[in-house]
Amino acid sequence: MTAQTHHDPTSLNNLAATFPVEANVHPTSDEQREALIDKPAFGQLFSDNMVRMTWEQDTGWSQRKVMPYGPLQLDPAAAVLHYAQEVFEGLKAYYHSDGSIWLFRPDANAERFQNSARRLSLPPLSTDDFLGSVAALVQRDVTWVPRRREYTLYLRPFMFASEPYLGVRAPHQVDYCVIASPSGPYFTGGVKPVSIWVENRWFRTGPGGTGFAKCGGNYAASLVGEGRGSEHGCEQVCFVDAATGTYLEELGGMNMFIVHKDGHLETPSLTGSILPGVTRRSLIELAGDEGHEVVESMIKMSDLLEDIRSGEVTEVFACGTAAIITPISRLVSDEFDVSLGEGQPGQLTMHLRERLLGIQLGEVEDTHDWMWRVC
Ligand SMILES: *Cc1c(COP(=O)(O)O)cnc(C)c1O
Repeated sequence: MTAQTHHDPTSLNNLAATFPVEANVHPTSDEQREALIDKPAFGQLFSDNMVRMTWEQDTGWSQRKVMPYGPLQLDPAAAVLHYAQEVFEGLKAYYHSDGSIWLFRPDANAERFQNSARRLSLPPLSTDDFLGSVAALVQRDVTWVPRRREYTLYLRPFMFASEPYLGVRAPHQVDYCVIASPSGPYFTGGVKPVSIWVENRWFRTGPGGTGFAKCGGNYAASLVGEGRGSEHGCEQVCFVDAATGTYLEELGGMNMFIVHKDGHLETPSLTGSILPGVTRRSLIELAGDEGHEVVESMIKMSDLLEDIRSGEVTEVFACGTAAIITPISRLVSDEFDVSLGEGQPGQLTMHLRERLLGIQLGEVEDTHDWMWRVC
């Protein structure tokens, strides 16, 4: 059964039509494409085409187009290469069993992209241009949307300061692109809980910083912590607040939830240094639908450890578009090493994962009207 939507597909079509399609004289053959998307290497395989658009201070956004995927030409003085004015988004196109293709809450990504751009003094993209550009690329490369369950076409809209200028100020020229990468399930061979390194020395952001913006710089700043995590045998890193080093914030690219034994959930509140995830927001609503209270609060790491040890907290998980939900079975740092769930994913963790994935794949009724049909 495919979920019904109130988002009129013709309006998305009309927005997509504002991006003229250029010819592609070297498309991948059907046979080669099918082989590639059958075993996609994450983040290394891209579809045949891309979206491009340019902004200039005097004229605003123009030159909308869908064109063959290929290298960009950049002046070596392009501001982004020196001062990192770049923001991005991440969302997926989902194949439903009736052959239709859908997006999950792309309007939420459009809104966040605007907030990220403002924080980096980049020109916000209108919601119409965001939705139109994403839909145009999905329609153009619709054969690149994998059909296997849990396989998706990952979409990466991004913008950056392309103006050749070494002075430090808001740019007068900016480029916007959307690229698409077929991707397989985050977990191959079943969902497995991961170990988390709690990083207390190197922070990804701080109060008044860029934590709420989805910008490349936050990721650059997280890599040293990620490295320390993998040195300690952990798959992911959890960052704590930079001001006091005591409150739980989020992973490098995922938000966090904890489940109490009475069934209520807690997630770190959006203090400005945490990225407001679309998955986070959606899970708060889904858990609420089923009668689970969800509290957004400042969570002290020391309290969490004590609550795990006492059995008050029974499940911990991370969430984001890529993996949907990742169960966590261990928290490690220089000072502690705490396990929970005996290496098994928690019950509510897996239930919420199935609910959300079911909505995205059109197998569970979309009561919140989150899905947008592209074609
Ligand atoms: C993208 C991202 C998330 C998850 O956001 P979703 O919208 O759920 O994909 C969480 N944290 C950070 C730092 C991110 O960049």
